[in-house]
Amino acid sequence: MKIGIPRTLTYYAYKPLWETFFQDLGCEIVVSEKTSKGILDKGVEFAVNDACIPIKLFHGHVHNIGNRADFIFVPRLINLTGEKTVTYCPKFLGLTDMVRASMPDLPPLLDFRIDLREKWKARRREYERLGCLLGMSPGRIGHAFRSAKRALRSYRRRLSHGNDPERAVAELREHTGIPSLPSRPITLAVVGYPYLLYDDFVNAGLMTKLYNMGIRILTPEMVPERQLLIKAKGLPKDLFWTFSNQVVRSAIYYIDDSRVDGIIHVTAFGCGPDSMVGKLIELEAKQRGVPYVLISLDEHTGEAGILTRLEAFVDMLRYRRGEL
Ligand code: SF4
Repeated sequence: MKIGIPRTLTYYAYKPLWETFFQDLGCEIVVSEKTSKGILDKGVEFAVNDACIPIKLFHGHVHNIGNRADFIFVPRLINLTGEKTVTYCPKFLGLTDMVRASMPDLPPLLDFRIDLREKWKARRREYERLGCLLGMSPGRIGHAFRSAKRALRSYRRRLSHGNDPERAVAELREHTGIPSLPSRPITLAVVGYPYLLYDDFVNAGLMTKLYNMGIRILTPEMVPERQLLIKAKGLPKDLFWTFSNQVVRSAIYYIDDSRVDGIIHVTAFGCGPDSMVGKLIELEAKQRGVPYVLISLDEHTGEAGILTRLEAFVDMLRYRRGEL
């Protein structure tokens, strides 16, 4: 049985979770191709007009695997942390319905609901429902999910040792290292949602450009979970969304870190949660005198524009250091 997994949204944060889960069930995985102009165009064609670019891209990735899989995995991801008042962005919660309503002729969608705040009975009901679709017992599905969570823990340990998601996965398989840097590199915290930071097409090659400029990059995934929780305690209030909390907490962690020369916040044009996230980070950075720049992405973002802004920001940091 072939399960199609769109290479976007939860893919970068939870890839080992989904892969281990389906492999444990004996399924074959088909991941959509890397984001391209063709995938973006299809996303724009199928998604509602006012959706943010990650949601548009999700539709494009679903289309990309539509005729290569028996089922497409579109999880209804609600909560994976167990924190009582926190869920994923509302657009994640309605994703299955959006795709179902706007994309005809797809294979069946696997809309597995994941909410770790629920009691065991409710989770078992969900395992049974998925079991009916895939022809597996709820016990086997529960076992696969537990193995998957172990794989996710190990993946996160690797991320917190300084590897971005694509590198952490590569290292699991090939033991590749991170690129070498100049002796005293500019260090930037690049904060934003994983589906913006690690998709080279949607961010117009932002991370690659920074690597090529000899910048040391720190990302939210590199901050140990315990440190994020400590930073959360220092905030007057949590936000309601899992990824947004991770971005704010990690940004504040890096603002407090004397190794960091500046903060880049990468956001999607029209993102509701980021209207708060961006303001919080900007205010904190200003108060502590840490240089900050906002990069907003949409379907019209071009490489030249991104490069100019990055070069200007890095030049300003070099000037502050007395290197220019
Ligand atoms: S958090 Fe923002 S960018 Fe991400 S899916 Fe929600 S609205 Fe879109």
